[in-house]
Amino acid sequence: MREPILQGSEIPVVQERFDDDPEDRALRPQRMRDMVGQREVCERLAIALDASQKRRETLGHILFDGPPGLGKTTFATVIPRDLGVSFQIASGAALMAPKDVIPYLSNAEEGSVLFIDEIHRLPKAVEEFLYPAMEDFRIDITLGEGVNARTINMPLKPFTLIGATTRSGMLSAPLRDRFQMREHLDFYTIEELSEIVTRSSAKLRAAIDPAAATEIAIRSRGTPRLANNRLRWVRDYATSKADGRITHSLAQAALEMQGIDPRGLDSQDRKYLDTVIRIFHGGPVGVEAIAHTINVPPDTLEDEVEPFLLRAGLVIRTPRGRKATSDAYEHLRLKPPPSDDHPRLF
Ligand code: ADP
Repeated sequence: MREPILQGSEIPVVQERFDDDPEDRALRPQRMRDMVGQREVCERLAIALDASQKRRETLGHILFDGPPGLGKTTFATVIPRDLGVSFQIASGAALMAPKDVIPYLSNAEEGSVLFIDEIHRLPKAVEEFLYPAMEDFRIDITLGEGVNARTINMPLKPFTLIGATTRSGMLSAPLRDRFQMREHLDFYTIEELSEIVTRSSAKLRAAIDPAAATEIAIRSRGTPRLANNRLRWVRDYATSKADGRITHSLAQAALEMQGIDPRGLDSQDRKYLDTVIRIFHGGPVGVEAIAHTINVPPDTLEDEVEPFLLRAGLVIRTPRGRKATSDAYEHLRLKPPPSDDHPRLF
């Protein structure tokens, strides 16, 4: 017997907390033209938006994937603004059962956007409930229980689902295939991050030297969210220690004080590398073993720590686990073992 989805007339209230911090809100780009970098993604999206507007059709569903802090939520919020449609925001982790997603679907206005963050965390039952909603804009609701149970078919207004995930591999193929566009967001270049830092300083009314903007960009692990966070810390430091103007030496001193090294690694990143090298002799080692040793959930390592270390060439993935490269040894000022696969002269 199928579990009843809606019992009685209680429909949960849509409640979302989003950009609680007014400074976060101020720094987030509002329109697609304010987005820095991700040029190809922006160009493809601009075409899709333009075509849907010209045809007066609802934009197709879009999936964004990539490490945290690269702009998935930002894209999901600039799209409805550019289209001039309303949007709702939900988190995959909070949609535990089909009944949790019904209010969002029934509230969705024609052409509006429903953004589901962390969509890989949706339970299978919710995923399956979404299939007809995404494909045919209808849902099947079971009311009552046992012999009294009946299924009603509820039509929805055509809407656009935007999903964001740090783990596209965890999405089931049927869900993934229901997105007309799938866009992968990659790390940003130093120039792009430096541009973001410069624009953010202007929004925060903080004077910044170009060399300081570049320094913050270099130490932000290719990630706009980190660039903005680091900028805010450097701004506080410059206000407390000097006259508020962010100079290169103040930026360096502020970031050193936070434990952020010249390549942008923080203490957790270095602890990860140190563990692979010292405890596991450079690897190969499984992510669970590293996670247990440094007492951090494996998911956090996979989502937040490893993508940049892999991208920066400090770690490689092998079929038998993670391995530190000679660059990682050099970065921690350690001597690589003689059998190292990536020999380098010091
Ligand atoms: P994600 O959803 O991928 O975790 P967000 O979209 O929340 O990341 O981005 C984090 C912050 O980084 C945003 O608040 C915004 O200020 C900034 N940001 C992200 N992408 C860009 C971009 N392309 N241009 C300028 N700022 C950006």
